[in-house]
Amino acid sequence: MGLIFQNSEKFPTPRVIFKLKLLESLKEYNTFMINAGCNYLEVIRNEDQLLQYISSKEKVTCRIIGEGSNLLLVDDIQEDVLINRIEGISIIREDERTVWVEIGSGENWHQFVLWALEHDLGGIENLSLIPGTVGAAPMQNIGAYGVEQESVFSYLEAIELATGKKCTFQKEECRFDYRESIFKNEWKGRFYITRVVYRLNKPPHKINKSYGVIEDILKEWNITHPDIRDISKAVIHIRQSKLPDPKFIGNSGSFFKNPMISLQVLQSLKSTYPNVPSYPVDHQYAKIPAGWLIEHSGWKGKKVGNAGTYEKQALVIVNHGEATGQEIYYLAQKIARDVNKKFGIDLVPEVNIWP
Ligand code: FAD
Ligand code: NAP
Repeated sequence: MGLIFQNSEKFPTPRVIFKLKLLESLKEYNTFMINAGCNYLEVIRNEDQLLQYISSKEKVTCRIIGEGSNLLLVDDIQEDVLINRIEGISIIREDERTVWVEIGSGENWHQFVLWALEHDLGGIENLSLIPGTVGAAPMQNIGAYGVEQESVFSYLEAIELATGKKCTFQKEECRFDYRESIFKNEWKGRFYITRVVYRLNKPPHKINKSYGVIEDILKEWNITHPDIRDISKAVIHIRQSKLPDPKFIGNSGSFFKNPMISLQVLQSLKSTYPNVPSYPVDHQYAKIPAGWLIEHSGWKGKKVGNAGTYEKQALVIVNHGEATGQEIYYLAQKIARDVNKKFGIDLVPEVNIWP
């Protein structure tokens, strides 16, 4: 039973909403493990099933979940939820240097990385062990350890939910940016991504080890000429030692984006906090690790009720047990407020907050 306030002209009258039917639980479909509900849930295994679902509705009002690893469910979803499990992986074209691979959007991203390594195809090894589905990767242009999926993205296929129309979008149309795409903004909720085509590289591979911590691990392992498998192993090792495994502790990875600030603002910040780390983005902006700002606002490893920040990486908000989505949301707000008070920098959530 929920309580909302109806606004009358003079004073608000509480109106009680009775939930007439039991909602389907989404707990096993989001890595924060929030026990929110939805009206109706269907697992989509292929395009025909999706088209059938669309044609059965007068008006489609639904949400799509892949593996729910970039979601915070603050409340029940009073809509249908489609769980994407569209499968398939095949090589559709190749030339001397490149292989074009088409992947069903419901395939697991890390399994795709392992498939690429088995076939000696390079380009996504730095993106090893990122949770989630292939279809969600273009949504926020997933990135890690100096690489973003856009560097190997070719095009994607999608179905417009309102009309059932099949569409193809080339890279330029997706407007990829730092943890952004057109699908997370102007076209939010409009398309169901069904297949993605990536352009992977045949050997000899270009190795991307510019991210300091990868070099450190390779040095420690005495690997002087790493191949793509070594990079993947190093990334997996670093991630496993630093990030909470959602199988055991609920989380959605980095809760906030790393803020970009102008070099001018950075200079004045450095005059007060000379140790603030920063990475140049271009000749005007630099990126500040949000985790550092949160840690230096006193939040690293802190617990408030059932929610908290991870002890090894303050940017990751965790569910210590039975946290509600609202508890996590309020904690995130508190953290952002404290960071703003101390550093004058606004933190923007990277996680999709529903409803
Ligand atoms: P979901 O969380 O299910 O959905 C995310 C959004 O995409 C929602 O808005 C959903 O509606 C939409 N969506 C999903 N599938 C489709 C589809 N087929 N068509 C249209 N819309 C769709 N992210 C990074 O970028 N880099 C990292 O290094 C990284 N590390 C992480 C580590 C941990 C421990 C965790 C828990 C998360 C991490 N993430 C990272 C975030 C997350 O893994 C990615 O954003 C991932 O791509 C989400 O995939 P998903 O299938 O779980 O998407
Ligand atoms: P980290 O290595 O402690 O570094 C903190 C931040 O500083 C990173 O987020 C990164 O920004 C930036 N950074 C560090 N070294 C850099 C370099 N050489 N060049 C440019 N930027 C640099 O970060 P972490 O939390 O352990 O994460 C490691 C990588 O995995 C990062 O790329 C991070 O984005 C990714 N990751 C993402 C999520 C998620 O949910 N989105 C969760 C875990 C890890 P960038 O984020 O832009 O790389």
